[in-house]
Amino acid sequence: MPTQTTAVLTSPARKRIALVAHDNMKDDLIAWTQDHRELLTRHELVGTGTTARMVAEHTKLDVERLKSGPLGGDQQIGGQVADGKIDILVFFWDPLEPQPHDPDIKALLRIAAVWNIPVACNRASADFIVTSPLIGEPYERRVPEYL
Ligand code: PGA
Repeated sequence: MPTQTTAVLTSPARKRIALVAHDNMKDDLIAWTQDHRELLTRHELVGTGTTARMVAEHTKLDVERLKSGPLGGDQQIGGQVADGKIDILVFFWDPLEPQPHDPDIKALLRIAAVWNIPVACNRASADFIVTSPLIGEPYERRVPEYL
């Protein structure tokens, strides 16, 4: 069994923000990206397939597009989180409807907690995160390290 300690990973001032929204939540996420469009131009955006396409269409922001969530997009984002490549996760999951890819959703939320990145699951938490002074500054976060 490897020994676990902690290390520090610096999230840069220009954050890489992952965007995911379930179908019933996409309007909410699009509205949020429109409200914060100016700020979001200063960061790098990546998202699951349909979410990324819709946000890009409605805001004209550049959003790197991964696979659709149910086809592996959530797992792709989780992999990037584990690689230290995602600084913030904005994941508007649907609290009122079961999803076929529920295991992937759980896995993404779990790995985001493991790697100590800020996660917003609704508009209020997303508003708090992007209006924090830390959004435009480097941030040293503690991450697990196995020896
Ligand atoms: P989508 O995936 O952006 O391709 O709709 C989101 C999800 O359901 O996880």
